[in-house]
Formats: sequence, C-alpha cells, structure tokens
Amino acid sequence: MFANCGVLLCYGVIDEQHVRDELRDELASIGDCRPGVLVEMTRKCGKPTCHCAREGDPGHPGWALSRMVGGKRVNRGIPVPALEQTRAQIAEHARFKELCGRFVEASEELCRARLKAGQIQRPGRNTPTSLIAGMYC
Ligand SMILES: [Zn+2]
Repeated sequence: MFANCGVLLCYGVIDEQHVRDELRDELASIGDCRPGVLVEMTRKCGKPTCHCAREGDPGHPGWALSRMVGGKRVNRGIPVPALEQTRAQIAEHARFKELCGRFVEASEELCRARLKAGQIQRPGRNTPTSLIAGMYC
C-alpha cells in the first residue's frame, strides 16, 4: 500500500540524488591521471659512437608509459625518478574510470527515480520543476 505513496517516491529521488552528488564530489577530487601501463624497455639513442649502435647491443634500459591511441601503441619514456609518480597517476586514472562508471549508474538510477516520482525536467535545467515541491511532500 506504500508503493504509490508520494513520500516514498520523493525519498527515492532524494536518496538517489544524494548518491549521485557524493560521486560527483568524489570525481571533483581526481588528481593527475594518466592512462596506460608501465613497461620496461630498451632504446637506441642514435649516437653513432655509443655502445648501443653496435650490432647485438640491447640498447639503453628504461621505462615507458604504454597505451593504445587510435589503434596504435604509443610509448612515452618515463625517467626512473618519475616512476612512483607515474604509478600514482595510473592508479588515479583507474579510480577516475571506476568513479565515472559508478556516476553514470547512479545518474541512471536518479533519472528513473525522477520519472517514477513524476518529476519532469525542462531541457537545459538541472533542477526538475517539481523538485522543490517534492522536498515538502
Ligand atoms: Zn646509445
């Protein structure tokens, strides 16, 4: 008998909006982030007198941030002192992607709750026309 109660419907919207807003706040806290994975690799520096120019020499060891861009693998060199920072930036990117997914899910739930509560938004407005009235229902 409570399923059609306006109070419960409005609480549903408020709950879903609270979840969505918390995720939005968390998204605002995202710091430097970089996509990709760290890979150990060797490279040739190009100097003709360097040992790496000799045949069979593996080259200079180093690290790169590797990722796919438009179907192609792109590697960007990362100096050893920046490895820890880069790992943190990669972790932050993973957190960003995870939060984005949760935000979209929460937003979808909020949109459904609004429709269920009869809240219709005018295009270009973030606040439904009946939300203020809904706060007091
Ligand atoms: Zn070299």
